[in-house]
Amino acid sequence: MFIVIHYSEIGTKGKNRIIFEKRLAQNILEALPGKNRVLRRYGRIIAEVFSPRQNEGLLIGILEKIPGIANFSFAEKAKLDIADIKKKIIALAGSKRFSTFSVSASRSNKSFLYNSSQISVILGDLIRKKLKKKVDLEHPDLTFRVEVGEKEAFIYCQKQPGISGLPVGISGKAVVSLSGGIDSPVASFMAMKRGLRVVLVHFFNDTLMGGRQRTSKIRKIAEELAKFQGRTKLCIVPFSGIQKVIIRQIPADYRMIIYRRFMMRIISRIGLLERAEGIVTGDSVGQVASQTLPNLGCIYRAANLPVLPPLIGMNKEEIIGIAKKIGTYDISITPYPDCCSFMIAKHPETNGQIYEIEKLEGAIKNKNALINKCVKESKVEIFD
Ligand code: ATP
Ligand code: MG
Repeated sequence: MFIVIHYSEIGTKGKNRIIFEKRLAQNILEALPGKNRVLRRYGRIIAEVFSPRQNEGLLIGILEKIPGIANFSFAEKAKLDIADIKKKIIALAGSKRFSTFSVSASRSNKSFLYNSSQISVILGDLIRKKLKKKVDLEHPDLTFRVEVGEKEAFIYCQKQPGISGLPVGISGKAVVSLSGGIDSPVASFMAMKRGLRVVLVHFFNDTLMGGRQRTSKIRKIAEELAKFQGRTKLCIVPFSGIQKVIIRQIPADYRMIIYRRFMMRIISRIGLLERAEGIVTGDSVGQVASQTLPNLGCIYRAANLPVLPPLIGMNKEEIIGIAKKIGTYDISITPYPDCCSFMIAKHPETNGQIYEIEKLEGAIKNKNALINKCVKESKVEIFD
């Protein structure tokens, strides 16, 4: 079985295009189950699936989650010979239900005997006469597409949409501050879609009851996100030690900001160990009290890597729409006591001032030791 895979070509000219294609081909090869081969051919990628009876639905589910793919189609391969192309298109058309159709041919192989409009006319005539179907160039029930390349031709009908974007890994690596909420899984997806490989970092209060069972929600989210990038690392960081100190020493209205400043310091450490070049969060301006611009400013200043909040200008409804599409929404809405919401004020500070915060944090002794302990005690899990 052959699959013709197209990517969006914008920004992928010259040398970049080879790097892009190679990375995308590699990601596809790693994602497809069973025995297969992935080739780069004239501005597209051809996957050949050897396992007989690979379930098409399963393959669609996999390919539609690979960043970098604009669309893909299950295709018939034909020899570079119009007689073989005719034979294959009749077989394909015979298996489909339609009354009107069009043929759209493209030819990257300029030495092929016919040009693309001649190919379209020849094949259109053939289907019209042999199968008694009507040509409709405006609103056909079915469009047959023929791509004539250097070594072979491919024929297909349906195009399955992909998510476009850039192949994971091409933009480097980032660590995501992943809570159990709706937003940060969406932020992770947005980062992967821009070619970042993400390492997920979750902080949890390890003294509350049912630790492992509680973090199973985070594992489920990691499992869903792994469908977009393959092998995914999740670091679970015990946070109760730091929380205890903060609860003891910091007034309730400042705790949220200071929790998150410690998270930023720890994530920065993990990021450096992982050779990541940025931190991704699920923040969106003004969504909750902690997410005012002054507060985000104070929180992000504690990071040692650039902080990227991909949802910064999005409305909650837009974020929820994406969460549903990527399959994390239903997991996210199950109840979970996020450690961030632990012992904070009903009306937390919305206008955090860095000098206030630095003064308050000054009272916390051994900051470094607390941070080191968290990094050391964090547990890594891998999802494929
Ligand atoms: P989300 O839906 O992602 O939880 P939210 O609207 O609930 O977002 P907050 O709980 O204030 O907002 O969290 C804002 C951001 O802080 C999250 O998107 C995430 O990046 C980070 N964050 C919060 N809690 C944690 C946590 N326990 N572990 C890691 N990161 C966290
Ligand atoms: Mg949250």
